[in-house]
Amino acid sequence: MTLVYLGLGSNIENRETYLQKALASLAELPRTRLLAQSAVYETAAWGKTDQSDFLNMVCQLETDLSPQELLRSCQNIESRLGRVRHEHWGPRTIDIDILFYGHEIIDEEKLRVPHPYLQNRAFVLVPLSDIAESFIHPLLKKSAADLLKETDQSGVKRFKD
Ligand code: ATP
Ligand code: CA
Ligand code: CA
Repeated sequence: MTLVYLGLGSNIENRETYLQKALASLAELPRTRLLAQSAVYETAAWGKTDQSDFLNMVCQLETDLSPQELLRSCQNIESRLGRVRHEHWGPRTIDIDILFYGHEIIDEEKLRVPHPYLQNRAFVLVPLSDIAESFIHPLLKKSAADLLKETDQSGVKRFKD
């Protein structure tokens, strides 16, 4: 079993429903258990800013799926939840990124783990720190909490309460 962290994001209504459905689908994957989930945060769109605000969260799984099987499973869930791939960084019903797959380092054309931008993204680091404060990034050798301290969190708001 490997401990995995996934980042989830949605910016098409109903955003909360898409997050919940994605979590339910992840929990039902074979050889996989959903162990923890962060709070939900709202963030202005990143990269491509002319679109609706995102809801983001992070979850922790343990799985016997390989990294490639897990990626395929996440993409299947995205498709089932109606994600259509138009433009890179465009609006989406649900986006599921593999942030960490244990402490493995994977550098393939279709799969890079740890996710190459997570250290630049407060909308990932804030929820990640909810459930994985002390998890060490295997390349940067810093904890999620330390990476978070180095980012500007001002745009990331706790969603509801
Ligand atoms: P970003 O990766 O910057 O967050 P994105 O999530 O909008 O961008 P997508 O269009 O969802 O990008 O995915 C593009 C491709 O990224 C996927 O087809 C997948 O093969 C590849 N990819 C590489 N590494 C990962 C990873 N760690 N998790 C998910 N997809 C990945
Ligand atoms: Ca993404
Ligand atoms: Ca993605």
